[in-house]
Amino acid sequence: MLDISIGDRRVLHGSGLVLVTGAGGFIGGHLVSKLRQAGVRVRAVDRKPLSQWYQIFDDVESIQGDLSLAPACTMACEGVEWVYNLAADMGGMGFIETHKAECMLSVLINTNMLLAARAAGVTRFFFSSSACVYAAHRQTHEDVVALREEDAYPAMPEDGYGWEKLFSERMCRHFTEDYGFITRVARYHNVYGPNGTFEGGREKAPAAICRKVIEAIQTGHQQIEIWGDGNQTRSFMYIDDCVMGSRMIMESDIEQPINLGSSELVSINQLVDIVEDIAGIKLTRTYNLGAPKGVRGRNSDNTLIAEKLRWEPSISLRDGLEKTYRWIFDTMQTHAPVERVKYVA
Ligand code: NAD
Repeated sequence: MLDISIGDRRVLHGSGLVLVTGAGGFIGGHLVSKLRQAGVRVRAVDRKPLSQWYQIFDDVESIQGDLSLAPACTMACEGVEWVYNLAADMGGMGFIETHKAECMLSVLINTNMLLAARAAGVTRFFFSSSACVYAAHRQTHEDVVALREEDAYPAMPEDGYGWEKLFSERMCRHFTEDYGFITRVARYHNVYGPNGTFEGGREKAPAAICRKVIEAIQTGHQQIEIWGDGNQTRSFMYIDDCVMGSRMIMESDIEQPINLGSSELVSINQLVDIVEDIAGIKLTRTYNLGAPKGVRGRNSDNTLIAEKLRWEPSISLRDGLEKTYRWIFDTMQTHAPVERVKYVA
């Protein structure tokens, strides 16, 4: 029997097998990495061919499977004790504002995964929700009031992606209330770090800005295009905090959806300042006011997580961006420029 622990709590008591879905993606890949480092037996599943996974490990059972389909979920859950369900069709604003139907179809993953996990006798189920569940009218100013968990209602989330997340949160809740099935829900606020998407249309702001700065250096065009006027505000959580927080929430007795995000608020212009500083360059900025930009301002209120876990994300944006920039820089060096040119926004 395997035990994993944060602090001194023993948490796995059955088969010890932990399923991570979306394991070929950004957060899933990091979670698998940390779980196996802790000695946990992991099964990793993703729709993508294994050759496209960001991280893959010889000692982890890694399976390609489309978890929007019930038989694949049944197979994935066989013999599993805990599930981290991270699989979703998602991306940055450029993706979710233009692919609302695809985002909503992730409901098939969450529905079939909940049903299969319960049928398989899984004892704990983690769902990665999003700050996109929060009501739009609370996010209309860059000078924000940080979002508390109760601010998700009355509901008016991000169209498409946010509605699906809110619906799936409630499905978790009702599986708990009606069937006694233990679920944990974290509302992630903008996660960034190495081994994630930085080109192709699904990338989020930190990775996109790192990429654009590197392209400016490589091409000698000393310009950067920023989506919106650059004064919109956000907080960004480094991946190590995300993985740590997800595991702590999973192991906790917190039954309600809870924020998992940094509370270090910056404007997009400030984010660009930091990346320029890391790169040692100053670029001319152009602003694309017609580009997708999401809500005007958003931050995570961490009162609840600090109270429940006596912990909250704390890795500074500057420290996290240093690592992210280096990884994107190194990765871009290994790509042929001609392959990347088509992705330039
Ligand atoms: P990601 O796109 O890198 O990873 C998601 C993975 O899910 C991808 O590898 C994709 O191939 C896989 N997937 C999609 N459909 C699938 C299917 N039908 N069957 C199996 N696998 C499928 O995204 P991420 O940033 O790692 O996000 C992980 C989770 O966290 C998602 O649920 C996402 O909505 C949530 N989230 C992420 C952020 C963030 O800032 N990255 C913020 C809020 C919430």
